[in-house]
Amino acid sequence: MSIEKKQQQQTAQVPEKSLSNPALSPGTLYLVATPIGNLSDITQRAVDVLSQVDYIAAEDTRHSQRLLAHLGIKTRLQACHEHNEEQITPRLLDDLQAGRTIALISDAGTPLISDPGYRLVAQAHDRGISVVPVVGPSAVIAALSAAGLATDRFSFEGFPPAKQGARRAFFEALVAETRTMVFYVSCHRIVETLKDMQDIFGAQRRLSFARELTKTFETIKRSTLAELVEWVESDDNQRRGEIVLVVEGAPESTGDAGETDRLLAILLDELPVKQAVKLVVKITGEHKNEIYKRALELKENKLSANERK
Ligand code: SAM
Repeated sequence: MSIEKKQQQQTAQVPEKSLSNPALSPGTLYLVATPIGNLSDITQRAVDVLSQVDYIAAEDTRHSQRLLAHLGIKTRLQACHEHNEEQITPRLLDDLQAGRTIALISDAGTPLISDPGYRLVAQAHDRGISVVPVVGPSAVIAALSAAGLATDRFSFEGFPPAKQGARRAFFEALVAETRTMVFYVSCHRIVETLKDMQDIFGAQRRLSFARELTKTFETIKRSTLAELVEWVESDDNQRRGEIVLVVEGAPESTGDAGETDRLLAILLDELPVKQAVKLVVKITGEHKNEIYKRALELKENKLSANERK
């Protein structure tokens, strides 16, 4: 028998269910990832689950209706967003316990990643309901994988606060973070956010700017904070659309500026500059003038952050 014929025969013997999506399990909550731009980025399994569940809980039903229409799916949509999640969760859980199948989707990407659904999933676990991820796109992973920065360890930081004082405090708390950090940033705040990062992480810290991933104007650029601030300020197009910033972690070596900063910042909260500097010099063995200079910079940063609050 030819190899081709043998393969055909083997394929024919495989039950159809194991080739595509097996029937859904009753009483299961499916977390279905949807495209973050390019509509072709939907898995066959996502299409099967979305077609077969009893209903789909969606962040914005009008927005999701367009995706379902594109996919030819007629399943009923039920709104589930941050404003009604608390009120609607018990009903969804009751339906699941009665044996219904529900898919949760967000406007784009993976549900619960800077999107609603945490309460529902946590309470589903509390009630012993099965939760099944139907994996697919997420901007954090897409940006990280294309960033050209260390990916062995990373920390997803979500959206930095909108107000400048809180945002600077947020970055200051991350000054000694050695893992690669991933941030979601609104295009309306991209310049201020990059400038705050530059002040706090240093002008030479490298980062990757990922905009409009999987879409027509996809842009991925790795550079330093100093260069990126200039580039984004000089080109309006870079201030449009959806943006992820992937920032290199602080260096790990001893005498590490990030660690020294962290220590200094803690001591400056409790002690006058002179005393804080003296202690840090004792602990790190680093040069007094350098530490003194850095202490004044940190104090200055903190003062201007407080003034802006
Ligand atoms: N659940 C989504 C996910 O899995 O990525 C994230 C939802 S969050 C509300 C939206 C943010 O994700 C955007 O402000 C942007 O920072 C990032 N994002 C989503 N789609 C993106 C894209 N195509 N390109 C770049 N960033 C994107």
